[in-house]
Amino acid sequence: MKIAILSRSRYIYSTSRLVEAAESRGHEVKVVNTLRCYMNIASHRPTIHYRGDHLEPFDAVIPRIGASITVYGTAVLRQFEMMGVYPLNESVAITRARDKLRSLQLLARKGVGLPVTGFAHSPDDIADLIKMVGGAPLVIKLLEGTQGIGVVLAETRKAAESVIEAFMGLKADIMVQEFIKEAGGSDIRCFVVGGRVVGAMKRQAVPGEFRSNLHRGGSAQAVKITSEERMTAVRAANIMGLNVAGVDILRSGRGPLVMEVNSSPGLQGIEGATGLDIASLIVQFLEKNARRHRTQTRGKG
Ligand code: ADP
Ligand code: MG
Repeated sequence: MKIAILSRSRYIYSTSRLVEAAESRGHEVKVVNTLRCYMNIASHRPTIHYRGDHLEPFDAVIPRIGASITVYGTAVLRQFEMMGVYPLNESVAITRARDKLRSLQLLARKGVGLPVTGFAHSPDDIADLIKMVGGAPLVIKLLEGTQGIGVVLAETRKAAESVIEAFMGLKADIMVQEFIKEAGGSDIRCFVVGGRVVGAMKRQAVPGEFRSNLHRGGSAQAVKITSEERMTAVRAANIMGLNVAGVDILRSGRGPLVMEVNSSPGLQGIEGATGLDIASLIVQFLEKNARRHRTQTRGKG
């Protein structure tokens, strides 16, 4: 197969592992810098240009699109889809997953376990918003935050009020969420490929911290998950329409609760913790499923 990887650089861990896995399985791989692609979108024969030339046809494309370039990145991916290239994850599914509000609404509609969550932009009645999600302690999140930045634990109603007020002053969308104390500063990342959890790790926050992000000093180790957790992760990925997903789960007193579904999950943490060759499993998924013109949506929707 000829495989394109949409990525900023071939030296990023996940990208270089995918290149390595694909080449060792006999495929031809090209790393394409998403932001350098330009496209003719007003033609019935869609093309992508790159460094002054047409991109040759590929059988499959692996999108590794950073959160900060979602709009342009998914447009480039859509163009690949219109050209009949099979995407590892479809552009519509990535767009869906990047919208936290939309994702949680979709998961809730299908009955997936979620922490009690409220969304707000400029609530007139902060006390009512807090009451709506069950009162303090509460986790308050800036919607556009990543790596744990913009995630705050408010232990009391007063603290919650002032944090919400401060975020409102920034005119940001916020999420107000029940604090899952039983999780004990840890969460479970389930790595899903083609409807199967192929690896799972537990991330544990440093003492005194509730955010388990590795960027916040958390540590990761392989973990055995329950069949309920496995089913929840697979269902969440399926509902989002993602072939490959990182599903983050909190272990609560009432079972697994999905916190977030990531459409470009990194390989470094999970391969490091589990010792598994996840990159090769992704390439094998493409070998089984990639056919030209087999994109379900062909860039529509
Ligand atoms: P980010 O997208 O910035 O990583 P998350 O929503 O994943 O933000 O939150 C960061 C971390 O904070 C999570 O990995 C988890 O350890 C902890 N956390 C987030 N929400 C809750 C919650 N409702 N209850 C308990 N811990 C939480
Ligand atoms: Mg997270």
